[in-house]
Amino acid sequence: MNHVFHRAPKEILPRAVGGDGIYVIASDGERYLDASGGAAVSCLGHSNETVRRAIHAQVDKLAYVHSGFFTTDVMEQLGDRLVTLAPAGLERVYFLSGGSEAMEAALKLTRQYFLEIGQPQRTRIISRQQSYHGNTLGALAVGGNKQRRAPFEPLLMEGVSHISACNPYRYQAAGESLEAYGLRAANELESELLRVGPETVGAFVAETVVGATAGALVPAPGYFKRIREICDQYGVLLILDEVMCGMGRTGSLFACEQEGVAPDLCTIAKGLGAGYQAIGALLVSGTIFDSLLGGSGFFQHGHTYMGHATACAASLAVLDVIERDHLLENVQNQGALLTRLLHEAFDGNPHVGDIRGRGLFQAIELVADRETKQPFEPALKLNGRIKRQAMARHMMCYPFGGTADGQRGDHVLLAPPFIVTGEQIADIVQRLKDSVAAALAEIVT
Ligand code: PLP
Repeated sequence: MNHVFHRAPKEILPRAVGGDGIYVIASDGERYLDASGGAAVSCLGHSNETVRRAIHAQVDKLAYVHSGFFTTDVMEQLGDRLVTLAPAGLERVYFLSGGSEAMEAALKLTRQYFLEIGQPQRTRIISRQQSYHGNTLGALAVGGNKQRRAPFEPLLMEGVSHISACNPYRYQAAGESLEAYGLRAANELESELLRVGPETVGAFVAETVVGATAGALVPAPGYFKRIREICDQYGVLLILDEVMCGMGRTGSLFACEQEGVAPDLCTIAKGLGAGYQAIGALLVSGTIFDSLLGGSGFFQHGHTYMGHATACAASLAVLDVIERDHLLENVQNQGALLTRLLHEAFDGNPHVGDIRGRGLFQAIELVADRETKQPFEPALKLNGRIKRQAMARHMMCYPFGGTADGQRGDHVLLAPPFIVTGEQIADIVQRLKDSVAAALAEIVT
């Protein structure tokens, strides 16, 4: 008998004992190809020497100090570095230990900002369906995934409403251009603001490229520019959740760079520590920071491990490696190859309805019927079957359900490490093709 309360206690998991580049080594000696970076985390693979050395060096000097008493060189350096690299206007960094923590901080800071500037009535948040922002109660409340919310609905805060995801595959009308669709989708925010009263809304929250719960959903061209315009017009803050899609995953350090917009608050995590340390961050605009400085002078928030010195040292090394090894270029190049090979492998599959994504953040969406885009019945648990088939082929990918409407639909997300080679990309696609075929064979008669 063991005593660990695992995520899915009925599952029997292999035991990981080591890492070697993009492979995880299990206790039986099997090498698992990590095609999803876990959950889009391990962007440098599992054995990066530079990051390991940086962690060792920091632990030898000072592992941790409480941020209420001291600052550290590594925290200051990481703050400077991120602000230098971030979209214009983001000027301060509040460090945390993960994505949900970063989202909670974003929501609470939004509330406090409007208190500081004398607009206490702005308590509402608008976000989107099929988005995921974390599992803590505040983040879950703004998230739009029905499955994950359902059991906790009575505990979730009120005053949150959800507009549609920007999902051309499902919602672009026949004869409508992608740009026209993007505009229409963004205008839903304005309609919702007018419905609830724009003066009551504090922020609009969105993943720049939607990850886990919608499968690498890339915004239509112009969507976020229109969103930014609407937010500015009505005095609403724009919170971009780049916990999964940020830190280089889509080929630019911040995903929103490619949309030509800058948010007022931006959350990052996952790739920031690349899995070598647990770290997240909230980047905030100078305007928000100054409101606090000129007002109460204190953000009513905080966690024990925020700004953890070892985590900051690891993140600095992660950014060094990304820069030194030109990894954003590799994300772009291998991403293009991944797109091409996914099309070659799945264009002829009648149950793959869409192939989408950007950089090394791509997905396939599975459907029962390509014409009608009808999803498979959730009871068939197709995404779980694909995960099992992939693990049987010693590959980690990230399948998930509820893609179409929060309940129905299946997709498989790929987010391989930025160090992946062309040969490994081909291997990933082949194993995915075999896994999908085997899973479909179990349910399609
Ligand atoms: N936001 C997004 C977009 C995510 O994908 C996730 C996790 O998958 C989170 C927030 C929550 O991050 P964490 O699991 O580190 O709390």
